Amino acid sequence: MAELRPGDSTTIRDLVWKAVDEVQITDIHTHIYPHTFDGLLLWGIDDLLTYHYLIAETMRYLEMGYEHFWALPKRAQAELVWRTLFIERSPVSEACRGVLTTLEKLGLDVSKRDLEAYRRFFAEQKVDEYVDKVFELSRVKTVVMTNDPFDDAELGYWSKSRQQDERFRAALRLDALLNSWHTAVPKLQEWGYNVGFDINSQTVSEVRRFLVEWLNQINAVYMAVSLPPSFAFPEGSTRGQLISECVLPTARETCKPFAMMIGVKKLTNPALRLAGDSVGKANIDVVEYLCANYPDVKFLVTMLSRENQHELCVVARKFRNLHVFGCWWFLNNPSLVDEITRMRLELLGLSMTPQHSDARVLDQLIYKWAHSRRIIADVLTDKYVDLAATGWLPTEQEIRRDVAALFGENFWRFVG
Ligand SMILES: [Zn+2]
Repeated sequence: MAELRPGDSTTIRDLVWKAVDEVQITDIHTHIYPHTFDGLLLWGIDDLLTYHYLIAETMRYLEMGYEHFWALPKRAQAELVWRTLFIERSPVSEACRGVLTTLEKLGLDVSKRDLEAYRRFFAEQKVDEYVDKVFELSRVKTVVMTNDPFDDAELGYWSKSRQQDERFRAALRLDALLNSWHTAVPKLQEWGYNVGFDINSQTVSEVRRFLVEWLNQINAVYMAVSLPPSFAFPEGSTRGQLISECVLPTARETCKPFAMMIGVKKLTNPALRLAGDSVGKANIDVVEYLCANYPDVKFLVTMLSRENQHELCVVARKFRNLHVFGCWWFLNNPSLVDEITRMRLELLGLSMTPQHSDARVLDQLIYKWAHSRRIIADVLTDKYVDLAATGWLPTEQEIRRDVAALFGENFWRFVG
């Protein structure tokens, strides 16, 4: 074991980087699936290039109508993104850089700028082996998916019995249930749940039956919903009633956390479709109210607005049933991950999960974790160097213990 001396920052940096580099990650929120979910797993260069982050950036430079873009086949969309963001100007944005990191770590020569060569590489991959390769390169051991029974494509998967891939864990996504009740009701009825549009006692007990049955069927780790900045609780809305009458009692009974991803303004620009969502500052009082009034419910919370981050840390200091996680979406940029991770370590110590990938395309695990690892290692190094200045020298084993906590063990402990 390496011996540290006060002020020995080079050694501390080496130890932290090694620990962070080698840790096997649990990625607690993604949108990827096992390859056995036919047609749902996105991977390869055309899916990387048509990621909605890059489509939003591409459309800023084009005069083409949005509908014209969407009418193009995926391959042509990818070529347009490539030409606009990578060839006609330098790909400096985080999402662009991510494509290059991914290609480079897969052993491709990015200096050639040769889209067709990259396509040939991906065409030669066998999907099941490629999934193994991505997990290996990103050193991710487990991912938590986003599983929505109201999505017809997924429903088909869960109703068939297929071989399980233990690396992929499920999370029961409640967006359709909580945010579009009018479309959820007919589906619930079709599946044999005796619900109506009014939230009466019969509907409440049937929705609770639905939640418990689905949590069991997919062996979900937690329930999750994304919420607008205007989210309020308690409130008399359908969503408010469903949360208080159905979701929170189910979370309490099953000991499954309720994950709230707060701050997304859906379809600010509807013509951009999936790329059209925006951000707004939410009211932290909601999180505080829920944690205070439901002490026996576990809440996993991430917020999309930078402006909510400090108060979210403060609330987490007050309530141990709140686990703060990730730098979500528009926050997953180096400068913001650095700032937010520092703030969380300073206010919460190690009692949080600093990052999740939110990967929508399998290959994104490679770059999102490579980039996050580097920033988190830098921030941690600074913290240990500050400790060393007092004479408190972390051992290699202590550093590894702390790193393992941040990259997965804290989450599993919280989930129970
Ligand atoms: Zn997500």
